[in-house]
Amino acid sequence: AVRVRFAPSPTGFLHLGGVRTALFNYLFARKHGGKFILRLEDTDRTRLQPEAVQRIQDDLAWLGMTVDEGPSTPLQQANFRNPAHAAYVQSQRLPLYQEAADALLHEGHAYRCFCSADRLEALRVSAYRQGLPTSYDRLCRSLPRAEAEDGVPHTIRFAMPTQGETRFQDLVYGDLAFRNEQIDDQVLIKSDGFPTYHLANVVDDYDMRISHVLRGEEWLSSTAKHVNLYHALGFEPPAFVHLPLLINPDRTKLSKRSGSLFVSQIQDMGILPSALNNFVMLLGWSASEEHAEATNHADYLTMEALTEVFDIGQLNKSAAVVAMERLHYINKRHLHLVEPQGAQFDLILDYARQRLERQPWFNSDNTPTHRLAHLVAQLKPSFDSVDDLVAGLEFFFVRPPAPTLAEAPFRGITAMTAQLRELPDWQPEAIKGACLHALEEAKVGRKKAFPALRQVLVNGQHGPPLYPTMALLGRDESLARLEQAQQ
Ligand code: GLU
Repeated sequence: AVRVRFAPSPTGFLHLGGVRTALFNYLFARKHGGKFILRLEDTDRTRLQPEAVQRIQDDLAWLGMTVDEGPSTPLQQANFRNPAHAAYVQSQRLPLYQEAADALLHEGHAYRCFCSADRLEALRVSAYRQGLPTSYDRLCRSLPRAEAEDGVPHTIRFAMPTQGETRFQDLVYGDLAFRNEQIDDQVLIKSDGFPTYHLANVVDDYDMRISHVLRGEEWLSSTAKHVNLYHALGFEPPAFVHLPLLINPDRTKLSKRSGSLFVSQIQDMGILPSALNNFVMLLGWSASEEHAEATNHADYLTMEALTEVFDIGQLNKSAAVVAMERLHYINKRHLHLVEPQGAQFDLILDYARQRLERQPWFNSDNTPTHRLAHLVAQLKPSFDSVDDLVAGLEFFFVRPPAPTLAEAPFRGITAMTAQLRELPDWQPEAIKGACLHALEEAKVGRKKAFPALRQVLVNGQHGPPLYPTMALLGRDESLARLEQAQQ
């Protein structure tokens, strides 16, 4: 059975790279009727950000990636070895890592290291200066076991085979081989008693019966360490699927420091979750020929459709360029295409309301949801982003100042006002008929009259088509604005 996990470290919030890893895991699980597991790798106590624990889970929910097993799964439903508390949080599973480390010590696959932080630092500095690999010099590996007693502060290190090669297959990168002499004697248990990423990751992937490990390419060299650990522990390793590196358009590595935005920042830009998923889907993956047709419109696929076309055979090895304009373009398409009802539309409304509430001109008491929904539904095809849409809403709430009109436009406005007053039916088509008829009678050209009309109604030259705008403004307000311009 397919069981995959997304295993973020709550040292920060979810960012673009994390969203991509989570999405590919999620889609792979759904595609194969498997389980999508969330595991929190919180063993780095110095960099832990407690708020991240909840925020990561909220962000996944916002993106529509339902977690099958994770920190909120009741303990009795976690079908693997677990200690007394939350089963999917590494800090709650410490005895299990210690047990694994003890077994490795017992078998001679690990040893206690008493080297001080100062010694290790000095080693690193001198190796670095000589241009040598900065790995540990294995001083403690040759201590007689009796001397290497527990009690004194120490770490536990893996006794890496010093000869031969470590080989494994990656479903994207193919057959890989690493020379063992170049792999460090990795620390497994730190002096604070916490496991390192490597040990906890291997123990958990085994315990949680993970079938496929999908994660970023930056973990490829760690995989060589993990493969040795799996063997030493007598575990069968899972299948490995490394996802290509994400890079900026200038080909520098996308990292938390450069370019990789947090989900919260992406939300601040008014990006819809569906747009983000469609964008991230194409980072390192492209559709097979069979699905190329569907994905020609791939900027607007539902989660079900994404699951349908996703196939790990179509992952690429080469680094994927993150071009933010594409995200904005996809988001614009979603904004335009989302049907004016349902959960997706409600998200647009939420975004609009959050932004409106920051506007001094917005009066939320006078704006019931159905009115806002109606305005947003009518106007969203005319704007490229939620921010533009909100800016474009201002003149539905604020009557613009009266402009000074030249002679011909003034006559045009006067004639249109007269016709519109008589209009029985305040609908876009009828409004159009009345306006055109009035201009013809008054012999005022449209090119003169329409910019003035737009100025009078919405105080600008851009935005949605005029007749629907007048319909939205309503008869009274439209006429009031026209009359004001003639005073
Ligand atoms: N905790 C690691 C991270 O933050 C997980 C890497 C993995 O998936 O093995 O990315």
